[in-house]
Amino acid sequence: MNINYTFHSHTYRCGHAEGDIEDYVSLAIKSHYRIFGVSDHVFLPGVYEPRIRGDYSLLEEYIDAFNLSKNKHKDEIEMHLGFECEYADVFIDYYRSLLVDNKVEYLILGQHNGFDDNKQFIKYVKNHAEDTDEDLNRYAFDLIKGIKSGLFMYVAHPDLMFVSAKEVTPELKVLTKEIIDTAIKYDIPFEVNIHGFIRQQKREKYHVIGYPAGYFWDEVSKSKAKVVYGGDFHELNEVGNSVLKAKFIEFINKHNLHLTDIKEIYKSYRKKISEI
Ligand SMILES: [Zn+2]
Ligand SMILES: [Zn+2]
Repeated sequence: MNINYTFHSHTYRCGHAEGDIEDYVSLAIKSHYRIFGVSDHVFLPGVYEPRIRGDYSLLEEYIDAFNLSKNKHKDEIEMHLGFECEYADVFIDYYRSLLVDNKVEYLILGQHNGFDDNKQFIKYVKNHAEDTDEDLNRYAFDLIKGIKSGLFMYVAHPDLMFVSAKEVTPELKVLTKEIIDTAIKYDIPFEVNIHGFIRQQKREKYHVIGYPAGYFWDEVSKSKAKVVYGGDFHELNEVGNSVLKAKFIEFINKHNLHLTDIKEIYKSYRKKISEI
């Protein structure tokens, strides 16, 4: 098998990734990608998080940079523009308007944190300390609301809740089942996050499970949930990276995952969005 698409990639605008759309797509073309989707961390009106997401004022410039690359490469690769978003009640109307006003073509759900009704950041998935059951519950609660909203094409790294876990606790098992059952009911695919393999390697010193988390994907494999993959590129050397590709293929085989055709997923998502 080959890695030949991504709907998940970032740009320098978020403050923790390198390169721009054109840098990534040039490399993707060289690596024989068929589809390249750009999904930087969503810019949020009234939220200033310099190392997490780009400023809201960058929206039109982001769209312009995408259109420039898309026109330049129209005969070489299919390109789409989106955002990676956290579900929060307070932002749902804004997310819907991004789609309805055709600012972007798609949204993916990447639940890194939450927001309260005053747009204040709620951190529940930590990087260097174990999460409490309360943190994990909040993560799953918001993620499930996002799945039910119908605004997202797929769930990016649905297993992010394993990032600091040292073992598969009963709580993680319960939440895994709830998340999988909801995704099946609402027919929303899960993404095997290729960038996760880099993070996992860096985090081995903490003796944590990280993501992609074997337990989660074994449960997915036993279910009827749909599976796609995403690069989640933050560095240029991740595109066409043979070490990551080998890790990804090994993981897919080990957990007996069957990938759903991304073109079908995108087509049915766009149809759904055109009806909102
Ligand atoms: Zn990021
Ligand atoms: Zn991402």
